[in-house]
Amino acid sequence: MTEPADVARVTRDITSGLGTADLEGFYQDLHRHPELSFQEHRTAARLAARLRTAGFEVTEGVARTGVVGVLAHGEGPVVWLRGDMDALPVREETGLPYASAVDGVMHACGHDLHVTWLAAAAGALAAARDVWSGTLVVVGQPAEEAGGGAAAMVADGVHERFPRPDVLFGQHVTPGLAGFCPHTPGLTLSASDDVDVVVHGVGGHGSRPESTVDPVVTAAYIVTRLQTVVSREVAAGEPAVLTVGRFHAGTQGNIIPAEARLSLNVRTQDTRVRERVLTAIRRIVEGECAAAGCPVPPEITVHPGCPSTVNDAALDREIAAVHRELLGEHAVFDFGQAMGSEDFSLLAPKGVPYDYWYLTSTPAAVWEAAPGEELTERLARVPGNHSPLFAPDPSVLLPGVRTLVAAALSRLDTFRP
Ligand code: ZN
Ligand code: ZN
Repeated sequence: MTEPADVARVTRDITSGLGTADLEGFYQDLHRHPELSFQEHRTAARLAARLRTAGFEVTEGVARTGVVGVLAHGEGPVVWLRGDMDALPVREETGLPYASAVDGVMHACGHDLHVTWLAAAAGALAAARDVWSGTLVVVGQPAEEAGGGAAAMVADGVHERFPRPDVLFGQHVTPGLAGFCPHTPGLTLSASDDVDVVVHGVGGHGSRPESTVDPVVTAAYIVTRLQTVVSREVAAGEPAVLTVGRFHAGTQGNIIPAEARLSLNVRTQDTRVRERVLTAIRRIVEGECAAAGCPVPPEITVHPGCPSTVNDAALDREIAAVHRELLGEHAVFDFGQAMGSEDFSLLAPKGVPYDYWYLTSTPAAVWEAAPGEELTERLARVPGNHSPLFAPDPSVLLPGVRTLVAAALSRLDTFRP
């Protein structure tokens, strides 16, 4: 079954029995009980129970809280579907009847939707296993937000302990008038790296700066000079972002502290640009510390984060065509490239194609009420991922199940019904 129209038709058939009340109930329960990275015990148990009921062979505790469900059904390709499960340290302000019951923790990135989509898609594909053959692997990934979840699953042997994927699929909820399914063939998300800097000065009395080497002043120069990395050292057409998100030094006004700490985040889309930015950071930090006469060289620690997410272009076009059949011609468009990052791609062994797309979720009333004529203006005004007001429209529940089911069906061997 290679025709997009056939895949869409079968997808509709095998998901038509899904109860809205069941989907909403499962989703709202997850939303009410958010769990932080690597603490997704309850969420993982809920997903595992659904998979077991559907007939999957389920392994829990992969990379602490990860879940892997395997449904082998004859010869054919191995298709992996991945959803992330963790919530964020955000205090929910949506006022929804099913708002978070955990103070200071919220599903503000929609990973509760991702788990719901995954569980329901797995259930629908398992119930309709007579229309396909191959192996379906469902991955509930921990700790996407804090980073490290996908890497931890790989380190815990996810590629050796379970059937290796021939293809990997994932999807993410995003702001924008609900009902669209943006796709990007090729590079879709950026690489992210964190850099920690410790500036070592000489502490002393605030009234006697001549007896000190003030790390606050040095770190301030570093922050300012770092602004020239993207503006002066990276070519205009090359996307890059360098943010100093944390500057910590000192305890009170009349004490010059002995050290200052900075935390940086770097987003790039090209490995040469990434190297160039990281090299520039080292040079500037070391140079400013030398200029200030710091007694000890600075500590610079690079924590490599996510690589960039680069969809297999042919695969993405194939899945986008299926999603057009499913949701309408207008619903699928090229999303372009974003400076956001994901660890999803680490779950694909080298050379294995993957596709990662988006589902827009802003309720129509919220979208219409947002000020601005231009799409980008409105996008900036509606609550987005990580906002305490992020509240996806429940109308995206069923479409998100169907986009996953359709992607899986288009790559599994399928029997002509
Ligand atoms: Zn997020
Ligand atoms: Zn997310």
